[in-house]
Amino acid sequence: MADHIAEVFGDEPGQIAGYDGHQEIELALVKLYRTTGEKRYLDLSRYFVEKRGQEPNFLIAESEKRGWTSYWHSGKIEIDPAYFQAHKPVWEMDTAVGHAVRMVYMCAGMADVARESGDRRLYDACERLWAAITNRQMYVTGGIGSMAIGEAFSVNYDLPNDSAYSETCASIGLIFFAQRMLQLNPHSKYADVMERALYNSVLAGMAKDGRSFFYVNPLEVHPHVCNGGNHVFDHVKPVRQEWFGCACCPPNVARLIASLGDYVYTVNDSTIFTHLYVGGQTDFTIGDHTVTLSQQSALPWEGEVRVQVQLQESTTFTLAMRLPSWSPNAKLKVNGKERSIAGKVKDGYMRIEKEWTDGDTIELTLEMPVLHMHSHPLVRADSGKVALQRGPLVYCLEEADNGANLSGLLLPRGAHGSSEPVKVTWKENLLGGMKLLETEALRLTEESWGEELYRSDYTPSYEPMKAIFIPYYAWANRGKGEMTVWVKEQV
Ligand SMILES: [Zn+2]
Repeated sequence: MADHIAEVFGDEPGQIAGYDGHQEIELALVKLYRTTGEKRYLDLSRYFVEKRGQEPNFLIAESEKRGWTSYWHSGKIEIDPAYFQAHKPVWEMDTAVGHAVRMVYMCAGMADVARESGDRRLYDACERLWAAITNRQMYVTGGIGSMAIGEAFSVNYDLPNDSAYSETCASIGLIFFAQRMLQLNPHSKYADVMERALYNSVLAGMAKDGRSFFYVNPLEVHPHVCNGGNHVFDHVKPVRQEWFGCACCPPNVARLIASLGDYVYTVNDSTIFTHLYVGGQTDFTIGDHTVTLSQQSALPWEGEVRVQVQLQESTTFTLAMRLPSWSPNAKLKVNGKERSIAGKVKDGYMRIEKEWTDGDTIELTLEMPVLHMHSHPLVRADSGKVALQRGPLVYCLEEADNGANLSGLLLPRGAHGSSEPVKVTWKENLLGGMKLLETEALRLTEESWGEELYRSDYTPSYEPMKAIFIPYYAWANRGKGEMTVWVKEQV
């Protein structure tokens, strides 16, 4: 099939000088090149990446040729090249635009080609697009693509919580992109985002029992406006669906989970980078040696990690362990002896270089406090609000634990800007066991209100309550109800 596509597309006479409408083949061709060693597959991937957005615009020309009709639509179609990221050559791009899944799949393909070809222009564009997405257009859950119309990016800092699109596949595509950037430039900023997307928006895409799925991952839900109550929210489902007409997300989650090993580690020369603290056993080839790492991890609930090295004969290499952005303090022991971290951290990874022998163990303890997350001041949907996070998990409030009208809740702040302590409790019987967060909060009372919609003679009054937060990935496993990630904060 790939050979056929290579025959059909290209700049030679008789070929179509164009590219795909939905980027994805770019990644697949690089995988095929790595598997077969056949350079023509890499060349074809590079052709598609580089041809994109060149003038005259292929998508416009092709639509013209087809009389502005499409197999999918009977009427006249319109083409916005930016929706397909075909509005300019990829190395000139610096903003996330258009269909979100297409965008991040394209970025992953660009990073793949940049790695294989050493093309600096492509690499620089990847860095710019990474910053554009993760600094200006990403939810705290790792969701991207905030606009339902076109399943697309909107504009910088426009991250509505209740009408969010945040497709599961888009977060998976962001993980693909992050993993490829880690191979080009091992920096923890990519792994931090990879972990954020994995533990939050991607895991939320599947029900606890694995039988129903979210395509759309909102950060705030009011069930009465979904299901036709307000058609702006027609895409938002308050509970997971069994299947979809276009069922891209469920198998994408399955594929990601089944290939998770590819995301836990990467190897550059003689350094093994540990990006995710996920238990498992992996073999690596370092020089002439096979190195086996067995990892045990207490994440996401506690920050205890233990890695054991298995070797036939002693060999020197570097183990680089990620220090996650959510952990303010880390302790390291090698073979039971504490080691100072100072001076050993580069780009967010603690590097341990030594001659390793069979049975060596590393113990890492990552402090895991409850974090009070705030948004950039220009994210108007989160202004005056706070979200709780512990370790890689972002938390949310559900009606099941906190009653309805979650928008009337206030989280108090203590003196000097420090927040009230939040209690972390293990709940064995809740959805397979999880750590909840409990904190004092205030609820707006409605008792003194009458029939009127508006009043000028009213002073809001609040009653104390205990707010209970569950991990975002677990929401909507107990029937239909309100949910919110961001909560108003008392000033
Ligand atoms: Zn999808």
